[in-house]
Amino acid sequence: MDRDLKILLDDVVHGHRMSEVEALQLFRVRDRQVWEIAAAADEVREQRAGNAVTYVLNQNINVTNLCVNSCGFCGYSKKPGDEGIYFHDKAEIQKKAGLASRRGVSEICTVSGLHPDFTAGSYVDVYRWILEAAPEVHLHASNPMEVAYAAKKSHLSTVRVLEMMKEAGLGSMCGTAAEILVDSVRDTICRQKIPTKEWVRIITEAHGLGIRTTATIMYGHCETDEDRVQHLRILRDIQDETKGFTELVPLSFIHMNTPLFRQGQARAGATGREDLLMVAVSRLFLDNFRNIQVSWVKEGIKMAQLGLIAGGNDLGGTMFEESISKGAGATNTDYLDPAEMRRVAEDIGRTLQRRTTLYNPV
Ligand code: SF4
Repeated sequence: MDRDLKILLDDVVHGHRMSEVEALQLFRVRDRQVWEIAAAADEVREQRAGNAVTYVLNQNINVTNLCVNSCGFCGYSKKPGDEGIYFHDKAEIQKKAGLASRRGVSEICTVSGLHPDFTAGSYVDVYRWILEAAPEVHLHASNPMEVAYAAKKSHLSTVRVLEMMKEAGLGSMCGTAAEILVDSVRDTICRQKIPTKEWVRIITEAHGLGIRTTATIMYGHCETDEDRVQHLRILRDIQDETKGFTELVPLSFIHMNTPLFRQGQARAGATGREDLLMVAVSRLFLDNFRNIQVSWVKEGIKMAQLGLIAGGNDLGGTMFEESISKGAGATNTDYLDPAEMRRVAEDIGRTLQRRTTLYNPV
């Protein structure tokens, strides 16, 4: 192994906080030293999060696929007049929530486009309907883009919208809509989305109100290694300030059905090397995150398993209903049986542990 790389990895394992330049150096490794980085990240994972592989029994509820935005990486959203539009009403949402409850899930996660008629009250209504039908579940919903949209439509501050959501039963918020927190990249992939500064402000406001959130990064499209590092640095800074992130969820870009890929503005997703390094470098760089998730939905279970020996400690949710990645062209995204999760965890000498959304054991 390169001597400088060995010294750096040793230092990080013993508590050195990595600089952005050092993170960039790791993202650029292309040869067998990828395994050394993964091994160091695995050691740090063991120190920080132990040996259990965790998962949550959850269900997505898709509210509507109508969306006023046109993000280039999205194969899910529809415009008025398109085929295949849906917008579930109270009865349908409560039916799905009731079913989730009977399945014993501990978390319901809402996924939705920005419906042209939505206001802050629409989000509040959906949350109340879900919790009426499934009062025992943890509601993991919304994201900073939805909060900004609701605030704009209802002429309210984003803090007020977050308060309304919390009062309606929001348990924690999705840290999605982050994509890559670099405005020049956002201009290409999701111009109508809130800029970096606003995403950071709303996440920080949520943490300030006691609403914990996930953190995400969507990679493998048109971002550079420098962009990835900048994104991770922003997340680390927020976590230093608020401690409000529950985990990082790296989301590998699914390219097939997306306008971004079809128009030649994105590459065909991340490679296996990039998927592994994203988990490993995140684990090494984000020294204030306990949990790094590997996404079987985005990467498939085999790659996700490798992520678990490259710094990851969590397999995310069982799902039951998924349409975002499916819309973009991914397959096998609907449900992963905990028995299969256990097989994958035990195959690498670890135990499987069910958890709540906020990482308490079940
Ligand atoms: S990613 Fe979200 S905001 Fe963007 S077009 Fe798709 S549904 Fe709409």
